[in-house]
Amino acid sequence: MQLLDGKFLSSQIKSEIAIEVAQIKADGGKIPHLVAILVGNAGRSETYVASKMKSCEEVGMHSTLIRFDDDVTEEQLLQAVRDVNNNPDMDGLIVQLPLPKHVNPDRVMETIAPAKDVDGFHPTNIGRMAKGLPCYISATPQGILEMLKRYEIETSGKHCVVVGRSQIVGLPMSILMQRNEYPGNCTVTLTHSKTQNLPDICRSADILIAALGRPGFVTADMVKEGAVVIDVGLEKVPDATKKSGFALRGDVDFESVAPKAGYITPVPGGVGLMTICSLMQNTVKAAKREVYS
Ligand code: NAP
Repeated sequence: MQLLDGKFLSSQIKSEIAIEVAQIKADGGKIPHLVAILVGNAGRSETYVASKMKSCEEVGMHSTLIRFDDDVTEEQLLQAVRDVNNNPDMDGLIVQLPLPKHVNPDRVMETIAPAKDVDGFHPTNIGRMAKGLPCYISATPQGILEMLKRYEIETSGKHCVVVGRSQIVGLPMSILMQRNEYPGNCTVTLTHSKTQNLPDICRSADILIAALGRPGFVTADMVKEGAVVIDVGLEKVPDATKKSGFALRGDVDFESVAPKAGYITPVPGGVGLMTICSLMQNTVKAAKREVYS
Protein backbone atom coordinates (compact mmCIF):
# COMPACT_ATOMS: atom_id res chain seq x y z
CA MET A 1 0.00 0.00 0.00
CA GLN A 2 1.23 3.48 -0.84
CA LEU A 3 -0.16 6.56 0.82
CA LEU A 4 -1.36 9.35 -1.49
CA ASP A 5 0.15 12.03 0.67
CA GLY A 6 -1.80 15.28 0.36
CA LYS A 7 0.38 16.95 2.96
CA PHE A 8 3.55 16.32 0.97
CA LEU A 9 1.97 17.21 -2.39
CA SER A 10 0.30 20.36 -1.09
CA SER A 11 3.55 21.70 0.34
CA GLN A 12 5.22 20.98 -3.02
CA ILE A 13 2.43 22.76 -4.93
CA LYS A 14 2.40 25.69 -2.51
CA SER A 15 6.14 26.16 -3.06
CA GLU A 16 5.57 26.14 -6.83
CA ILE A 17 2.80 28.74 -6.51
CA ALA A 18 4.95 30.89 -4.20
CA ILE A 19 7.75 30.88 -6.80
CA GLU A 20 5.30 31.83 -9.55
CA VAL A 21 3.76 34.64 -7.49
CA ALA A 22 7.22 35.97 -6.59
CA GLN A 23 8.10 35.97 -10.31
CA ILE A 24 4.88 37.83 -11.19
CA LYS A 25 5.76 40.39 -8.51
CA ALA A 26 9.33 40.73 -9.78
CA ASP A 27 8.00 41.30 -13.30
CA GLY A 28 5.65 44.00 -12.01
CA GLY A 29 2.57 41.90 -12.81
CA LYS A 30 -0.74 41.60 -11.05
CA ILE A 31 -0.56 39.79 -7.68
CA PRO A 32 -3.34 37.18 -7.67
CA HIS A 33 -6.17 38.15 -5.33
CA LEU A 34 -8.74 35.69 -3.95
CA VAL A 35 -11.96 36.93 -2.35
CA ALA A 36 -14.12 34.76 -0.11
CA ILE A 37 -17.68 35.56 0.94
CA LEU A 38 -18.68 33.92 4.21
CA VAL A 39 -22.19 34.05 5.61
CA GLY A 40 -22.75 33.45 9.33
CA ASN A 41 -20.23 31.95 11.69
CA ALA A 42 -20.89 28.23 11.51
CA GLY A 43 -17.73 26.53 12.77
CA ARG A 44 -16.81 24.40 9.76
CA SER A 45 -17.24 27.05 7.07
CA GLU A 46 -15.30 29.46 9.23
CA THR A 47 -12.40 26.98 9.53
CA TYR A 48 -12.39 26.20 5.81
CA VAL A 49 -12.36 29.86 4.79
CA ALA A 50 -9.68 30.72 7.36
CA SER A 51 -7.38 28.03 6.01
CA LYS A 52 -7.97 29.19 2.41
CA MET A 53 -7.09 32.78 3.37
CA LYS A 54 -4.02 31.65 5.33
CA SER A 55 -2.78 29.54 2.42
CA CYS A 56 -3.04 32.57 0.11
CA GLU A 57 -0.90 34.61 2.47
CA GLU A 58 1.66 31.81 2.70
CA VAL A 59 2.25 31.90 -1.06
CA GLY A 60 2.29 35.71 -1.30
CA MET A 61 -1.17 36.10 -2.83
CA HIS A 62 -3.67 38.72 -1.71
CA SER A 63 -6.87 37.63 -0.03
CA THR A 64 -10.01 39.40 1.17
CA LEU A 65 -12.75 38.01 3.38
CA ILE A 66 -16.21 39.56 3.06
CA ARG A 67 -18.49 38.56 5.93
CA PHE A 68 -22.24 38.72 6.35
CA ASP A 69 -24.55 37.72 9.20
CA ASP A 70 -26.98 34.84 8.74
CA ASP A 71 -29.84 37.28 8.15
CA VAL A 72 -28.25 38.79 5.00
CA THR A 73 -30.79 39.10 2.21
CA GLU A 74 -30.26 37.33 -1.08
CA GLU A 75 -30.11 40.69 -2.85
CA GLN A 76 -27.37 41.98 -0.52
CA LEU A 77 -25.36 38.88 -1.25
CA LEU A 78 -25.90 39.12 -5.00
CA GLN A 79 -24.83 42.78 -4.88
CA ALA A 80 -21.61 41.80 -3.06
CA VAL A 81 -20.92 39.25 -5.80
CA ARG A 82 -21.55 41.85 -8.52
CA ASP A 83 -19.20 44.27 -6.74
CA VAL A 84 -16.42 41.68 -6.81
CA ASN A 85 -17.20 40.90 -10.46
CA ASN A 86 -16.73 44.58 -11.28
CA ASN A 87 -13.56 45.08 -9.26
CA PRO A 88 -10.54 44.61 -11.55
CA ASP A 89 -8.22 44.12 -8.57
CA MET A 90 -10.13 41.00 -7.46
CA ASP A 91 -9.31 37.95 -9.57
CA GLY A 92 -11.11 35.02 -7.99
CA LEU A 93 -14.28 34.72 -5.91
CA ILE A 94 -15.59 31.90 -3.76
CA VAL A 95 -18.84 31.93 -1.84
CA GLN A 96 -18.51 29.42 0.97
CA LEU A 97 -21.34 26.87 1.06
CA PRO A 98 -23.73 26.08 2.63
CA LEU A 99 -25.73 29.31 2.55
CA PRO A 100 -28.73 30.05 4.81
CA LYS A 101 -31.98 28.43 3.65
CA HIS A 102 -33.53 31.71 2.47
CA VAL A 103 -30.75 32.21 -0.08
CA ASN A 104 -30.82 30.30 -3.36
CA PRO A 105 -27.26 28.99 -3.87
CA ASP A 106 -27.78 28.47 -7.61
CA ARG A 107 -28.72 32.12 -8.05
CA VAL A 108 -25.58 33.15 -6.16
CA MET A 109 -23.33 30.84 -8.18
CA GLU A 110 -24.87 32.02 -11.45
CA THR A 111 -24.17 35.63 -10.50
CA ILE A 112 -20.42 35.04 -10.12
CA ALA A 113 -18.64 36.02 -13.33
CA PRO A 114 -17.40 32.75 -14.92
CA ALA A 115 -13.95 34.37 -15.31
CA LYS A 116 -13.76 34.82 -11.50
CA ASP A 117 -15.45 31.53 -10.57
CA VAL A 118 -12.31 29.81 -9.25
CA ASP A 119 -14.44 27.19 -7.45
CA GLY A 120 -15.76 26.11 -10.86
CA PHE A 121 -19.41 26.03 -9.73
CA HIS A 122 -20.90 28.35 -12.40
CA PRO A 123 -22.95 26.48 -15.04
CA THR A 124 -20.69 27.96 -17.72
CA ASN A 125 -17.63 26.37 -16.14
CA ILE A 126 -19.43 23.08 -15.53
CA GLY A 127 -20.64 23.01 -19.14
CA ARG A 128 -17.22 23.87 -20.49
CA MET A 129 -15.68 21.16 -18.32
CA ALA A 130 -18.13 18.61 -19.73
CA LYS A 131 -17.17 19.69 -23.27
CA GLY A 132 -13.45 19.64 -22.48
CA LEU A 133 -13.10 23.38 -23.11
CA PRO A 134 -10.83 25.70 -21.06
CA CYS A 135 -12.56 26.38 -17.73
CA TYR A 136 -12.17 26.38 -13.98
CA ILE A 137 -12.60 22.85 -12.70
CA SER A 138 -14.10 22.64 -9.24
CA ALA A 139 -11.37 22.57 -6.66
CA THR A 140 -11.81 19.13 -5.07
CA PRO A 141 -12.03 17.12 -8.32
CA GLN A 142 -9.11 19.12 -9.72
CA GLY A 143 -7.08 18.33 -6.59
CA ILE A 144 -7.80 14.63 -7.06
CA LEU A 145 -6.70 14.78 -10.72
CA GLU A 146 -3.49 16.50 -9.63
CA MET A 147 -2.89 13.75 -7.07
CA LEU A 148 -3.38 11.01 -9.68
CA LYS A 149 -0.99 12.83 -12.04
CA ARG A 150 1.75 13.44 -9.50
CA TYR A 151 1.68 9.80 -8.35
CA GLU A 152 1.59 8.75 -12.05
CA ILE A 153 -1.40 6.47 -11.48
CA GLU A 154 -2.56 4.69 -14.61
CA THR A 155 -6.22 5.44 -15.31
CA SER A 156 -6.79 4.44 -18.94
CA GLY A 157 -9.26 1.57 -19.30
CA LYS A 158 -9.75 1.28 -15.55
CA HIS A 159 -13.13 1.04 -13.85
CA CYS A 160 -13.63 4.13 -11.71
CA VAL A 161 -16.50 4.06 -9.23
CA VAL A 162 -17.57 7.36 -7.72
CA VAL A 163 -19.81 7.17 -4.65
CA GLY A 164 -21.87 10.37 -4.31
CA ARG A 165 -23.26 12.59 -7.07
CA SER A 166 -22.99 16.07 -5.53
CA GLN A 167 -22.61 19.03 -7.88
CA ILE A 168 -19.30 19.97 -6.27
CA VAL A 169 -17.55 16.60 -6.05
CA GLY A 170 -19.15 13.39 -7.32
CA LEU A 171 -20.76 14.62 -10.54
CA PRO A 172 -17.76 16.61 -11.87
CA MET A 173 -15.42 13.82 -10.79
CA SER A 174 -17.37 11.29 -12.85
CA ILE A 175 -17.26 13.56 -15.92
CA LEU A 176 -13.52 14.19 -15.55
CA MET A 177 -12.59 10.53 -15.12
CA GLN A 178 -14.25 9.54 -18.41
CA ARG A 179 -12.60 12.27 -20.51
CA ASN A 180 -10.42 11.22 -23.40
CA GLU A 181 -7.17 12.36 -21.78
CA TYR A 182 -4.93 11.64 -18.81
CA PRO A 183 -6.00 11.30 -16.05
CA GLY A 184 -9.20 9.93 -17.50
CA ASN A 185 -10.25 7.36 -20.07
CA CYS A 186 -11.86 5.34 -17.31
CA THR A 187 -15.11 3.45 -17.55
CA VAL A 188 -17.05 5.33 -14.90
CA THR A 189 -19.90 4.27 -12.63
CA LEU A 190 -21.51 7.09 -10.68
CA THR A 191 -23.38 5.82 -7.63
CA HIS A 192 -25.65 7.42 -5.02
CA SER A 193 -28.06 6.63 -2.20
CA LYS A 194 -30.52 4.81 -4.49
CA THR A 195 -27.87 2.59 -6.07
CA GLN A 196 -28.51 -1.12 -5.64
CA ASN A 197 -25.72 -3.60 -4.96
CA LEU A 198 -23.32 -0.81 -4.05
CA PRO A 199 -20.80 -3.12 -2.31
CA ASP A 200 -20.63 -5.30 -5.47
CA ILE A 201 -20.08 -2.24 -7.67
CA CYS A 202 -17.40 -0.88 -5.35
CA ARG A 203 -15.63 -4.25 -5.34
CA SER A 204 -15.28 -4.02 -9.11
CA ALA A 205 -13.53 -0.63 -8.92
CA ASP A 206 -9.90 -0.20 -9.89
CA ILE A 207 -10.25 3.38 -8.70
CA LEU A 208 -12.77 4.07 -5.95
CA ILE A 209 -13.65 7.66 -5.10
CA ALA A 210 -15.81 8.01 -1.98
CA ALA A 211 -17.60 11.34 -1.58
CA LEU A 212 -20.74 10.73 0.41
CA GLY A 213 -20.19 12.17 3.88
CA ARG A 214 -20.79 8.93 5.83
CA PRO A 215 -17.77 8.34 8.09
CA GLY A 216 -16.20 4.90 7.68
CA PHE A 217 -18.83 3.79 5.11
CA VAL A 218 -16.39 2.02 2.76
CA THR A 219 -15.10 -1.09 4.48
CA ALA A 220 -12.48 -3.66 3.39
CA ASP A 221 -15.08 -6.07 2.00
CA MET A 222 -16.13 -3.36 -0.51
CA VAL A 223 -12.64 -2.88 -1.94
CA LYS A 224 -10.76 -4.85 -4.60
CA GLU A 225 -7.22 -5.96 -3.73
CA GLY A 226 -4.78 -3.33 -5.05
CA ALA A 227 -7.43 -0.65 -5.78
CA VAL A 228 -6.71 3.06 -5.71
CA VAL A 229 -8.91 4.48 -2.93
CA ILE A 230 -9.59 8.21 -2.80
CA ASP A 231 -11.42 9.40 0.30
CA VAL A 232 -13.11 12.78 -0.09
CA GLY A 233 -15.24 12.55 3.05
CA LEU A 234 -14.47 14.93 5.87
CA GLU A 235 -16.74 14.75 8.90
CA LYS A 236 -16.31 15.51 12.58
CA VAL A 237 -16.90 12.50 14.82
CA PRO A 238 -16.78 12.41 18.63
CA ASP A 239 -13.40 11.22 19.92
CA ALA A 240 -12.77 11.20 23.66
CA THR A 241 -9.01 10.70 23.14
CA LYS A 242 -8.72 14.14 21.47
CA LYS A 243 -8.44 17.34 23.46
CA SER A 244 -11.09 18.96 21.25
CA GLY A 245 -13.41 15.99 21.83
CA PHE A 246 -13.69 15.18 18.13
CA ALA A 247 -11.68 13.80 15.22
CA LEU A 248 -11.95 14.27 11.45
CA ARG A 249 -12.99 11.13 9.66
CA GLY A 250 -13.36 10.20 6.01
CA ASP A 251 -15.84 7.99 4.17
CA VAL A 252 -13.36 5.11 4.12
CA ASP A 253 -12.60 2.90 7.08
CA PHE A 254 -8.86 3.52 6.69
CA GLU A 255 -7.70 0.89 9.21
CA SER A 256 -9.37 -2.02 7.44
CA VAL A 257 -9.08 -0.76 3.85
CA ALA A 258 -5.44 0.42 3.79
CA PRO A 259 -3.83 -3.06 3.93
CA LYS A 260 -5.91 -4.09 0.89
CA ALA A 261 -5.51 -0.92 -1.21
CA GLY A 262 -2.77 -0.26 -3.77
CA TYR A 263 -2.94 3.47 -3.00
CA ILE A 264 -5.03 5.31 -0.45
CA THR A 265 -5.55 8.88 0.75
CA PRO A 266 -5.51 9.53 4.51
CA VAL A 267 -8.03 11.77 6.30
CA PRO A 268 -6.93 14.30 7.31
CA GLY A 269 -3.86 14.92 5.15
CA GLY A 270 -5.31 13.80 1.82
CA VAL A 271 -7.81 15.34 -0.57
CA GLY A 272 -8.70 18.35 1.63
CA LEU A 273 -5.25 19.90 1.33
CA MET A 274 -5.28 19.37 -2.44
CA THR A 275 -8.59 21.26 -2.68
CA ILE A 276 -7.03 24.42 -1.25
CA CYS A 277 -4.10 24.14 -3.66
CA SER A 278 -6.47 23.90 -6.63
CA LEU A 279 -8.22 27.03 -5.50
CA MET A 280 -4.94 28.93 -5.41
CA GLN A 281 -3.83 27.52 -8.78
CA ASN A 282 -7.15 28.67 -10.26
CA THR A 283 -6.72 32.13 -8.76
CA VAL A 284 -3.26 32.46 -10.31
CA LYS A 285 -4.78 31.46 -13.67
CA ALA A 286 -7.52 34.05 -13.14
CA ALA A 287 -4.99 36.81 -12.43
CA LYS A 288 -3.09 35.83 -15.59
CA ARG A 289 -6.38 35.72 -17.57
CA GLU A 290 -5.34 32.26 -18.71
CA VAL A 291 -8.82 30.73 -19.00
CA TYR A 292 -10.95 33.72 -20.03
CA SER A 293 -9.13 36.65 -21.60
P1 NAP B 1 -23.49 15.85 -0.47
O1 NAP B 1 -23.83 17.02 -1.29
O2 NAP B 1 -24.14 15.64 0.85
O3 NAP B 1 -23.74 14.56 -1.36
C1 NAP B 1 -23.59 13.28 -0.84
C2 NAP B 1 -23.80 12.28 -1.94
O4 NAP B 1 -23.59 10.98 -1.38
C3 NAP B 1 -25.22 12.30 -2.53
O5 NAP B 1 -25.15 12.14 -3.92
C4 NAP B 1 -25.89 11.09 -1.86
O6 NAP B 1 -26.83 10.46 -2.69
C5 NAP B 1 -24.70 10.16 -1.68
N1 NAP B 1 -24.94 9.25 -0.57
C6 NAP B 1 -25.32 9.55 0.69
N2 NAP B 1 -25.46 8.42 1.41
C7 NAP B 1 -25.18 7.40 0.58
C8 NAP B 1 -25.16 5.99 0.73
N3 NAP B 1 -25.47 5.41 1.90
N4 NAP B 1 -24.80 5.25 -0.33
C9 NAP B 1 -24.47 5.82 -1.51
N5 NAP B 1 -24.48 7.15 -1.73
C10 NAP B 1 -24.83 7.92 -0.69
O7 NAP B 1 -21.94 15.73 -0.17
P2 NAP B 1 -20.62 16.48 -0.74
O8 NAP B 1 -20.78 17.93 -0.60
O9 NAP B 1 -20.21 15.89 -2.04
O10 NAP B 1 -19.59 15.99 0.37
C11 NAP B 1 -19.33 14.62 0.59
C12 NAP B 1 -18.26 14.51 1.66
O11 NAP B 1 -17.06 15.09 1.15
C13 NAP B 1 -18.56 15.27 2.96
O12 NAP B 1 -18.01 14.55 4.04
C14 NAP B 1 -17.82 16.58 2.79
O13 NAP B 1 -17.46 17.16 4.02
C15 NAP B 1 -16.62 16.11 2.03
N6 NAP B 1 -15.96 17.14 1.21
C16 NAP B 1 -14.64 17.25 1.35
C17 NAP B 1 -13.95 18.15 0.57
C18 NAP B 1 -12.48 18.23 0.71
O14 NAP B 1 -11.89 19.16 0.24
N7 NAP B 1 -11.86 17.23 1.33
C19 NAP B 1 -14.63 18.97 -0.34
C20 NAP B 1 -16.01 18.81 -0.48
C21 NAP B 1 -16.67 17.88 0.30
P3 NAP B 1 -28.21 11.16 -3.15
O15 NAP B 1 -27.81 12.11 -4.26
O16 NAP B 1 -29.03 10.04 -3.63
O17 NAP B 1 -28.76 11.86 -1.95
